[in-house]
Amino acid sequence: MPFSDSYDRPIEYLRISVTDRCNLRCRYCMPEEGIPLIEHDTVLRYEEIVRIARVAVSMGLIHVRLTGGEPLVRRDIVELVKQLAALPGLEDLSMTTNGMLLEHYADPLAQAGLQRINLSLDTLRPERFHHITRLGNLEQVLRGREAALKAGLRPVKVNTVVVRGMNDDEIVDLARLTLLPDWHVRFIEVMPLGTGEHWSEDDVVTVAEVRARIEAELGSLNAVHGETGIGPARYYQLPGAIGTLGFISPVSEHFCYACNRLRLTADGKLLPCLMSNRFIDLRTPLRAGASDAELETIFQKAILAKPRGHHLAEHQLPEHLLPMSAVGG
Ligand code: SAM
Ligand code: SF4
Repeated sequence: MPFSDSYDRPIEYLRISVTDRCNLRCRYCMPEEGIPLIEHDTVLRYEEIVRIARVAVSMGLIHVRLTGGEPLVRRDIVELVKQLAALPGLEDLSMTTNGMLLEHYADPLAQAGLQRINLSLDTLRPERFHHITRLGNLEQVLRGREAALKAGLRPVKVNTVVVRGMNDDEIVDLARLTLLPDWHVRFIEVMPLGTGEHWSEDDVVTVAEVRARIEAELGSLNAVHGETGIGPARYYQLPGAIGTLGFISPVSEHFCYACNRLRLTADGKLLPCLMSNRFIDLRTPLRAGASDAELETIFQKAILAKPRGHHLAEHQLPEHLLPMSAVGG
């Protein structure tokens, strides 16, 4: 049985950021020069991450996603996947990646026990992709996607952050991909968490607008029953489509009532909520020799510190939020 928070939400999902480093500089996430990096010796070692995950899984956090920064830039990431996949009770092990190194890693990751991938992809135009990510190569990412599918890392869900004037003219083209086999696309409202250049309310294309633009061109969407996933997306299909369309609306509509997650940063902070500046330090007690029972108590504290919800829709955002690349989205 998962441990529930103060609002009766069962907490069963842990997102682990394995590094704050990244090989891209997406404009809505990071400035061109990057962000000040976490000091090397405060980054959790693999045996520390595995120990924390073991405790988490024993408490019912049976879904684990690796993220970053870019998880594939951390050395020996396949070894971490292997050790996590071997944890008794872990039901689901996935990764969110920008895909730049996926062609090389897809097979070893699948063999190590990774189950599926979310791939961040905001455009289908090579030059625009390079512009948005500053360092990325679309062809390389698409080859990575193919490699992931071949390796059995399914489904590959594409995450598209929509920013007005950046890529909103491709909403329909991206949605149309789901008429093809193996394409699942989720549209995400841009959040004010980047340290990058995009954030004003005008930049946000609400999920309602994205949906209306798709339906105007491609027909009414049908809700997909039973495809709720473990996250906040709501899923639909175009008439005749094989793949699904997901909508994630952190800004315009609350989904906090269904929040089921905790986040662990690369330097061992447990975050009760993405939109809150509260965190609970797990690294210090861990390195001071805390027992599993003591670590469990810290997890419980983090779970009970989860707020009822955030107030983005009312344009309220706490100060000193950790950047997206440190928290992992
Ligand atoms: N580097 C990996 C990647 O890009 O997939 C994993 C980390 S990244 C921080 C995780 C997700 O957060 C990505 O899908 C990215 O598009 C999304 N993201 C980053 N900044 C965002 C923002 N300001 N608003 C909404 N989503 C954002
Ligand atoms: Fe890197 Fe992911 Fe942020 Fe892009 S969104 S800069 S790939 S961490």
